[in-house]
Amino acid sequence: MSVQHATLTRREALFVLGGTAAAAALGVASCQARAAADPTASSPHLGSSLADSPLNPGAAASAANQATSLSLHAPALTLEDLPWNLRLINGEHPLPDNFEAPELKSFADGAHAVDKRIYQSLQAMLKAARKANRHPVVCSSFRTRAKQRELYRARVQQCKDEGLTGKKAREEAAFWVARPGCSEHEAGLAVDLVDESYQELDKKQEKAKAQKWLMKHCADYGFILRYPTDKSDITNIGYEPWHYRYVGAEYARAITDSGLCFEEWLETYLANGEGRG
Ligand SMILES: [Zn+2]
Repeated sequence: MSVQHATLTRREALFVLGGTAAAAALGVASCQARAAADPTASSPHLGSSLADSPLNPGAAASAANQATSLSLHAPALTLEDLPWNLRLINGEHPLPDNFEAPELKSFADGAHAVDKRIYQSLQAMLKAARKANRHPVVCSSFRTRAKQRELYRARVQQCKDEGLTGKKAREEAAFWVARPGCSEHEAGLAVDLVDESYQELDKKQEKAKAQKWLMKHCADYGFILRYPTDKSDITNIGYEPWHYRYVGAEYARAITDSGLCFEEWLETYLANGEGRG
């Protein structure tokens, strides 16, 4: 991540120096920056419209597409200018300490919840999978900071039990469980999905029928497989053939088709200004 991060940071610095005035002149950065800084601040398109149309599953994807289409044409100059659905959350770009959880929507069974702006896209994806006789199961969704901390500490302890000490144990743990503040689950933008018939979180998950279907179709519903097998040196997270991140349908397709991981794609997107490198 260090090389990637250094590059991003350089670009950010350049854009901060040269991009802010231009963005302000175009009058587009301020509202996007607010949305990125506070994903709980629902945009007029993505907040209310989803909640108001529970009987129209297509409306969510349509509203999200509309909004992302609009933002595709706006210059994205820094990470802070990105819309809420492209917010980068990783070890180098943690959520702030005072981060407030987005408005959530719980599943019918009450066992899970996600940012309400992604709820209908997620449900549409799960429904389509079931229609294709595939059976993905949500095993993790929104997490509080406290829950993330608990998971991370448990993993650190596991690493210590396996003989690692101090910094090494913490680094190894963070490769598999994001540090508190660094997880997309805390923003309600990610879900872990496993096959009903194989629910282990390991590499074999990629072979499961439901998982193969998800990998092939998730972009149609605005999701990307966030931690691909060959990108761990950039994401700093181990291969997770179950963690899906919502970015919106148009971005998801562009990212998937690019073959880049989210960090790489964002760098290209920022470098090109108008995105879509
Ligand atoms: Zn996950």
